[in-house]
Amino acid sequence: MISTIQLSADGADNFKILDRYCKDAGISIFKACSVKSVAGSFHPALGENSYTARMTAAISMAFHLSDAVLEGIFDRPTPHYAMHYNRVNSFLDDAALRVTAIIQNNGYNAMPIPASQIIDKSSQRGYLNHKIVAAAAGAGFIGRNNLLVTPEFGSRVRLVTVLTDAPLEFGEPLKDGCGECYACLASCPAQAIKESPENFELAKCVEQISKFQRLMFVAKGICGVCVKACEGRGAKKK
Ligand code: SF4
Ligand code: SF4
Repeated sequence: MISTIQLSADGADNFKILDRYCKDAGISIFKACSVKSVAGSFHPALGENSYTARMTAAISMAFHLSDAVLEGIFDRPTPHYAMHYNRVNSFLDDAALRVTAIIQNNGYNAMPIPASQIIDKSSQRGYLNHKIVAAAAGAGFIGRNNLLVTPEFGSRVRLVTVLTDAPLEFGEPLKDGCGECYACLASCPAQAIKESPENFELAKCVEQISKFQRLMFVAKGICGVCVKACEGRGAKKK
């Protein structure tokens, strides 16, 4: 019960309590990092809120997308995936609100950052970059597909972040990378994915996603092709 959960000044204990709560609620990965380590990636608009400067920890939560829904994707997103994508974002936003309630009930501050919200169309940026927070917290690394790649689920995850001043234990960035895997390169309909993650062609990806958006008459631009291609260890193999 949210109202009975007690946090303390012990970051390791708080991490265990919130991790347990979130995993029981269906969150697949729960991690945290220092705000200092990711503040450089925040949109300037976040700095205009005076509470941002008080925050010391960034909580990253991931939900493992349905492998079965992704299976229906071949060279373009499906209506099934579009609905799943929206529902998962809502689920993550709900989870972030529950974590916010727990933290605030205990006298600390918490600022949930929406799972999928672009506030700057030209740069396609939100208030912060959830994948950078997740990578800094040790949930995965940035892969050739320019997405977070988790050891358990590959890129088959959606993310949300909560900033807080509650004491929390931090994770360490992973040393992994894509290595000898090139599974997503051939799948990209825009040829945006290159051998080196640094050479990822964002403009090509954005253009392709806009095309899909027009084709599907959906509010949010989605693709899902390279998400499906990056399975990780946790995906159910046929
Ligand atoms: S989201 Fe789609 S267009 Fe963008 S890199 Fe992945 S497969 Fe290519
Ligand atoms: S499919 Fe392979 S190459 Fe592509 S991002 Fe995932 S791990 Fe990296």
